[in-house]
Amino acid sequence: MKAEFDIPVITHYPQTPAIQVDAMVHSQPFVAKPDIQEPLGFPGELVEDWHDKAIDKMGELLGKYRSLQVFMDACVKCGACTDKCHYYLGTADPKNMPVARQDLMRKVYRRYFTFAGKHFPKLVGAVDLTEEVLDDWYKYYHQCSECRRCSVYCPYGIDTAEITMAGREILASVGVGQKYSNEIIGKVFKIGNNLGLPEPALVDTLEGLEEEVKEDTDVDVRFPVDQKGADILLVTPSADFFAEPHVDGLIGYAKVFHQAGISWTLSSHASEAANFGLFIGSQGNMQRVAMRIREAALELGVKRIVVGECGHAWRVAYSYWNTLIGPFDFLDPNYPAPQHICESTYDLIQQGALKFNKEENDDKVVTFHDSCNVSRASRMGNMPGGQYVIPRALIKASCNHFVDMRQETIHEGTFCCGGGGGLLTDDLVELRVKGALPRMQALHEVIEENEVTHMAAICAICKSQFTKVLPYYDLGMDMIISVHQLVGDALELGVER
Ligand code: SF4
Ligand code: SF4
Repeated sequence: MKAEFDIPVITHYPQTPAIQVDAMVHSQPFVAKPDIQEPLGFPGELVEDWHDKAIDKMGELLGKYRSLQVFMDACVKCGACTDKCHYYLGTADPKNMPVARQDLMRKVYRRYFTFAGKHFPKLVGAVDLTEEVLDDWYKYYHQCSECRRCSVYCPYGIDTAEITMAGREILASVGVGQKYSNEIIGKVFKIGNNLGLPEPALVDTLEGLEEEVKEDTDVDVRFPVDQKGADILLVTPSADFFAEPHVDGLIGYAKVFHQAGISWTLSSHASEAANFGLFIGSQGNMQRVAMRIREAALELGVKRIVVGECGHAWRVAYSYWNTLIGPFDFLDPNYPAPQHICESTYDLIQQGALKFNKEENDDKVVTFHDSCNVSRASRMGNMPGGQYVIPRALIKASCNHFVDMRQETIHEGTFCCGGGGGLLTDDLVELRVKGALPRMQALHEVIEENEVTHMAAICAICKSQFTKVLPYYDLGMDMIISVHQLVGDALELGVER
């Protein structure tokens, strides 16, 4: 596929690139206009006293998040993180080294919040917050997908993702927000999902899926919406309603629920699991997005909440929901609240409630891409490492041919797809293609060595990102599939439970 930029070359072994100063200084996402900023509680444009407001906001965040204060002070410049970021590996821009990304804020922190920085700024590398610095923040805090890979290798556990979130929060608070993420959050407030898909269109889409499954299988698999008294409320990324390969995952969930005899429903009020409030570092907006799910669960009187295949949505659900929208004392205490769809299907397999004809997937040799927010920011099931074990167990239950990618690129060392953290926008295609390089490299290896044909994932952003970037690396966009597509395709429907 042709591009207006250089597509990285996949080599026979992974290489750390030589530094190219300012290689990505031209990359930045569109800035949000006032009509997008204001509904989220942010100023419409850069405020006049932006300097003082930004410093005040930084002070507020340093007090509120003690981790941020520790991260500003703790780095010893050991360099262990420098070659761990996919954006550095793919772009060679030294500001995409995690430590350099942190230093964009650390230099300002030193100037305004440390004794040495206030009195001897040059000696400690402290700088004033100028418009140029603010500009650099906007560019390079939007070249971090908040994937947390660097923090795995940092001896002090410094989490660049949190610094990026703080950077974006400060920027938005002075009127410089990102169009893509903020527009999406606004759509959830207005309509209930990222796509702006209203209730009638949602119902129509689900009816269409019922007909499609009936045609394929001759079985009446339902896709209920707003069904009061159902046992399970399924909240899933809205991409599952129509995008490929996401929708095949939704069909897979519905088949599983059907076959296990579970009553479930979607909600038109909470028709979105994704929560971009996380990406922009805004707890207030994250809470407002998530609250719709609590409201829907109470309104529908469900006993359980299950979350579909979406990486950051699971992180928000697993790590934040209890604080933001809990307690969940109105749900059935015999089940985790919330529960991941993979965990729910895994339990049904353990109970013998599902039977598979694995030969249905014999045309595929499958590998699995661990999504960063699931791998490094949450867990799944009641076992350590369940977030790695459970999705693989589902693939192995439904496929005869599975192979993992190189060890240091999976589990907690997984590479981001390149489009996470609010960067899945067309104005950042170059960054997305370049940032996908390490994953493409590892995928290429298993294609060459094991004849892998498909890569499964449990994240809506990863699925969309790979659909877009695979062709740039001369690979088919349909290589990427949903884990529950494999499950649904191999599941024996209609046989005795
Ligand atoms: S969090 Fe991920 S994207 Fe951000 S600097 Fe670290 S490795 Fe890079
Ligand atoms: S690994 Fe940690 S301590 Fe070392 S340079 Fe990177 S952020 Fe600093």
